[in-house]
Amino acid sequence: MPTFSAIVLAGGSGKRMGSDIPKQYMLLNGKPVLSYCLEAFEKSPVDEIVLVTRAGDESYCLENVIKPYQIDKCTGVVFGGKERYDSVLAGLKQAKGDYVLIHDGARPFVSQDLIQRMMETVVTEKAAAAAVPVTDTIKEADETEYAVGTVDRSVLRAMQTPQAFDRSLLLRGYEQILAEGNGLSNVTDDAMIMEKTGLCRVKLVMGDYNNRKLTTKEDKIWANFFAKSVDAHPML
Ligand code: C5P
Repeated sequence: MPTFSAIVLAGGSGKRMGSDIPKQYMLLNGKPVLSYCLEAFEKSPVDEIVLVTRAGDESYCLENVIKPYQIDKCTGVVFGGKERYDSVLAGLKQAKGDYVLIHDGARPFVSQDLIQRMMETVVTEKAAAAAVPVTDTIKEADETEYAVGTVDRSVLRAMQTPQAFDRSLLLRGYEQILAEGNGLSNVTDDAMIMEKTGLCRVKLVMGDYNNRKLTTKEDKIWANFFAKSVDAHPML
């Protein structure tokens, strides 16, 4: 039986939210943002959870999230790095599963159905990423903020997490990019590692429009409202 590790990224500072505390620790309906996705992975069939935090946040996470929300599958809390990809690498080095599901701790509402779809797809495809069709019209703007063109919306997808990979394949991808001396500076998701190296095509899996990453104050207002219905119907 293949084994699965969830790597939950909570190593960011969340500057764009404009809050005093990092967005992963803000409360939604009285619970930390981070607790929602950790509870989802705890309830799912994954074998272990690796939590990546900012340096120095380990005991805060243990006392305020891991223990009170009984995240018993958590096998390690590791320190991330300056950029998201540094945090992914730290998590990858700790994870033991045959497959990894990398998830943004700032996306609280990941459903059991989506976790299941990711686990099934990665076993056959080796690389898979949650994504949703874009619903807005997307335009290209010039430097003076005039519209210069419209992109065909039917081929565009907004990427989400979880993104799931054969663990050794993803590690190989990261190592290959670093060995070639090509920095990771423009890497904003892990599917890009496969695109850049050509190691494997990434299968897109239908995501969920409620699986939003909390970035702005407006996201927080929506999430607080949505959390009340999630807490009232825990099977979501
Ligand atoms: O900054 P962004 O919103 O893209 O971050 C996505 C996720 O990656 C968040 O959950 C954040 O905590 C995490 N992250 C991280 N380490 C960083 C930067 C971001 O774990 N250095």
